[in-house]
Amino acid sequence: MDYKHLSERLHRAGEFVPEGAILADIGSDHAYLPAYLIMNNKISSAIAGEVVDGPYLSAKNLVAELNLVDKIDVRKGDGLAVVSPEDNVTAISICGMGGSLIRDILHRGLLGNHLTGKETLVLQPNIGEPTLRTWLVNNYYEIIKEDIIRENEKTYEIIVAKKRENLIPLSEKELLFGPHLLKQQGPIFTNKWQHELKQFENILTQLEKSTKNVSEKIEEIQTKINLVKEVLK
Ligand code: SAM
Repeated sequence: MDYKHLSERLHRAGEFVPEGAILADIGSDHAYLPAYLIMNNKISSAIAGEVVDGPYLSAKNLVAELNLVDKIDVRKGDGLAVVSPEDNVTAISICGMGGSLIRDILHRGLLGNHLTGKETLVLQPNIGEPTLRTWLVNNYYEIIKEDIIRENEKTYEIIVAKKRENLIPLSEKELLFGPHLLKQQGPIFTNKWQHELKQFENILTQLEKSTKNVSEKIEEIQTKINLVKEVLK
């Protein structure tokens, strides 16, 4: 992958960034996503945030090499701390991390007043999607779009969210599968959940053999198994 040839995962996430956006890409690594979007005239400017020295320097170097220093501001810092309301950011992308890490970044961003609530969030968790969806809904973010892709034998989900004043809560089923993915489904979705079902059933077998008190866990996993079976029917 490079800034000209994004992975399918990042390319698809980039498609959800609104045209003309001022983007903050958090955990930007080499800044491939903002560089690609600027070079393709999709966004007007970007902040690339990175907390680790190595990727931060890679991002700085790429932006300098491409003469994009006036378009992409590479900032070193933890999560959304690199962004302030004066930046007028209209979209935030956080891709390629676990769902709970993305949730923690958003939560700290909210507590630290780094989010204005006007941003479109483009999130691509590698795992832990229900945890992220739960945080979004609890914090009045409506999930407006979702996508699921398969690349290098891995399945990735993309969640796009926007702050709303009045929000209808999601059901347990919608939090697990994704409200839009549940409606869209398709072969990648089906394969993912067939695989997950096997995993859940293996976990259940192990739990049933346990000598400890795991009745709550059994109930939890059984609920998931029932939901997956119902959806795959
Ligand atoms: N976003 C790119 C992508 O999707 O290909 C890079 C993903 S890479 C696996 C995750 C990046 O997030 C790493 O470069 C890591 O240093 C950075 N990161 C992790 N936690 C972070 C945080 N709290 N704030 C900023 N960057 C973070």
